[in-house]
Amino acid sequence: MSRQYNFSAGPAALPEDVLRQAQAEMLEWSGAHASVMEISHRGKEFIALAEAAECDLRELLDVPSGYKVLFLQGGATQHFAQIPLNFARREQSVDYVLTGDWSEKAAKEAKPLAKVRIAASSAATNYDRIPPRVEWDLDRDAAYLHITPNETIRGVEFHEIPDAGGVPLIGDVSSTILSRPLDVSRYAMLYAGAQKNIGPSGLVVAIVRDDLLERCPKDIPKILSYAEHAAQGSMLNTPNTWGWYLAGLVFKWVKAQGGVAAMAERNRAKAELLYGYIDASGWYRNPVEKSARSWMNVPFTLPREELDAPFLKESEQAGLLALKGHRAVGGMRASIYNAMPLEGVQALVDFMKDFARRNG
Ligand code: PMP
Repeated sequence: MSRQYNFSAGPAALPEDVLRQAQAEMLEWSGAHASVMEISHRGKEFIALAEAAECDLRELLDVPSGYKVLFLQGGATQHFAQIPLNFARREQSVDYVLTGDWSEKAAKEAKPLAKVRIAASSAATNYDRIPPRVEWDLDRDAAYLHITPNETIRGVEFHEIPDAGGVPLIGDVSSTILSRPLDVSRYAMLYAGAQKNIGPSGLVVAIVRDDLLERCPKDIPKILSYAEHAAQGSMLNTPNTWGWYLAGLVFKWVKAQGGVAAMAERNRAKAELLYGYIDASGWYRNPVEKSARSWMNVPFTLPREELDAPFLKESEQAGLLALKGHRAVGGMRASIYNAMPLEGVQALVDFMKDFARRNG
């Protein structure tokens, strides 16, 4: 067995207990005499699994009534386009707050479908902060306001949900969902690609308020309509059954850990350990304003670029995987999602200390 601490930004490490259970059930799942991947999504066994997963997620996030929970496909990226298609008319404005690469992409995908307004942006400071709420230029008549509560590439996170000024708030929570409690009632819609804190890629979880669903136009293809997916219980066509199954196991695992409040405590401790060391080192550097630092994705640079290659090579030899930063930022990035234990972050800090001592 040579599994190592995996700091990949996504697809990311999954809880080992979940992988073991999936392994044990791979050939025959729960009395079905077949793998969960080999049975009908419309059979009663799979329906029960699907309902349990939804129920567990609702419980974990305390989803209020009046919201649909959907298990969809297409990656978060497809939903960048599907959101304006469903919730805005072409001539209507939609507000985006740009805090990094993912919110930028979301706004770009919306452009052909609605009048995109940039309500605020921290591009001028290289996405190192959340633009202060008082400086946002919101349109009261916008169809919605879109934010990215955690920017996976730059490691910038909203630690408070901003006041949307009465406009429906939509959040791409791909890289923060389940890492801490989340007040769903403040949002009209949340969506997340699964491959960080939920399960394998290829699954998207969306939580959508009923009044927003009523806006979905009748004249768009059904497969792109959130209202149709909701009406069909996310089974308009064959869903990603394997992803749904694994998501269900992850939800049970999070519950067994004590839920999102317990995850938050653990994630806070992990983040404090790593940022604390980076700041104290005077050698490594994280460029993000302290109040906006992500608990999930921690980018950092070394004092000289020529140290990057040896750092990556030696960290891998030390059993610390996938620390290379995103090409847009350079340097390193440690993604420390729910499945990363505190011991993994401690092992990273120990390695960083040793590397700095040898190369300082
Ligand atoms: N939004 C965020 C915040 C992300 O981190 C990612 C992927 N890393 C995406 C959207 C795009 O997700 P996908 O590749 O599933 O389309």
